[in-house]
Amino acid sequence: MSNHPTIIIHYHMGSADENSFFVHRGRSLRPALGLRLFCCSPLASMLTYLREMKALFFDGLMFHLIDNYKAPSPRENEALIRVLMAGICGTDMEIMKGYKGFKGVPGHEFVGVVEKVIGRYSNLVGKRVVGEINLGCGACEFCLRGIEKHCLERIALGIAGKDGVFAEYVTLPLKNLWEVPDRLSDEEVVFTEPLAAAFEVMEQVHVKPTGKVLVLGDGKLGLLVALVLSRSGSNVTVAGKHDAKLDIARQQKIRTKRADELSKRKAYEIVIEATGSAEGLDLALDLVKPQGTIVLKSTIAEEKELNLTRAVIDEVTIVGSRCGPFPPALAALASGRIDVRPLISAVYPFNEAMKAFERAGEKDTVKVLLDFKALR
Ligand SMILES: [Zn+2]
Ligand SMILES: [Zn+2]
Repeated sequence: MSNHPTIIIHYHMGSADENSFFVHRGRSLRPALGLRLFCCSPLASMLTYLREMKALFFDGLMFHLIDNYKAPSPRENEALIRVLMAGICGTDMEIMKGYKGFKGVPGHEFVGVVEKVIGRYSNLVGKRVVGEINLGCGACEFCLRGIEKHCLERIALGIAGKDGVFAEYVTLPLKNLWEVPDRLSDEEVVFTEPLAAAFEVMEQVHVKPTGKVLVLGDGKLGLLVALVLSRSGSNVTVAGKHDAKLDIARQQKIRTKRADELSKRKAYEIVIEATGSAEGLDLALDLVKPQGTIVLKSTIAEEKELNLTRAVIDEVTIVGSRCGPFPPALAALASGRIDVRPLISAVYPFNEAMKAFERAGEKDTVKVLLDFKALR
C-alpha cells in the first residue's frame, strides 16, 4: 500500500441514533458550526449537548473525514476532552498499513481542554491537558504494579480498542491526564507523548557519559531520543538518510552522520533503533559493541525474518521500548531544556487532514500537526 492515504470526505454519513431528531434540529439552528449541538426545547436540554462531531475514521483500508461521527460519552472517573491540537505519529502511518488491524478513529498525541468530568475532580473542567494513552483493566498484576501499558486486557487510545484524537472530542480516564503549564503553546505541548516515549530510554538503560550512543533514524522519534540523550550529557550521534532532518539535529548541537557513512565496525555501547523500518535491527547488530545494548523503538506493521545469532555471539542485550513517563517530558518542555519547535514541518487545520497525511508521508517531513481550533 502506498504511503499516501486516500481520504474520502462524507458530509452526510453516519447512522441516525436515538437522538437524531434533536441532532437535526441542532444542526438547522447552527448550520455554520453543525457540530456542537445545543437544542432549544426543554426535552432536548435534558440530553447531553454533544451528539456528533467531526472525526477522521479509518475503516481498515482508507480514511473518511466524517462530519457527524458519534461523539464519545465519558464514563465514571473519565473526562470528555475537546481536542485543540493533535500530532501525526509514525504509528498512525503504520495503522494505515494494517498495524494492529485497527479500525476507528486513530490518533494518540494531543493537547485538549477538559469539558466535562464524571465523578470527582470537576475542578479539572476548563484545564488544558495531555493524556497517557494506555488504559488497563485496573485489577491485574501489571495494572496493580502501575504498568497499565503491559496489562494483557489493555486498550490504547487510537491504536487498539478505543477511538483516538483525530476527532473533535475524546474521552480518557482522569488518572491518565496531566495538566500542562500555561506558558507552553499547544504546538509544543502536543509533543509530550512522543517525548515521554523518548525519555523511556533513560528509564530503561543506564547511559554512561563515557559510552558512545548511536540513534539510528532521523525521524520524529529518533530526533526526540537524540535530544533527550544529548541534553542529559550523553555522547550521542544521530544517523539518518535525510539531510534536512539531520540539519535539525545539527542546529540543536547534536552530532550527526549520514547512514551511508556508518562503518560497520562495532563502535557503540548503545544503539537506539528508531528507523521505523524492518531492516533497522539488522543494522543495529552491525554497529553495537559486544555486550552492548540495542533499544528498539520502531513499531512497524511489516514482518521480517531475522537471524539473531549475532546477538547471541556478541552477547547483545535487546531492549524493547515503548511509552514513557509524562512528568520529565513536561518538565523538559517547560524549562526550555528541550525545544521541539524545530521539528514541526507543518500545521494543518483539521478540515485539511487529507493534505496533512500526504505531507506526513513525504520524505523530508518530520512532525505534522492538526489544528482543531479553526473548527469553532
Ligand atoms: Zn505515537
Ligand atoms: Zn490490567
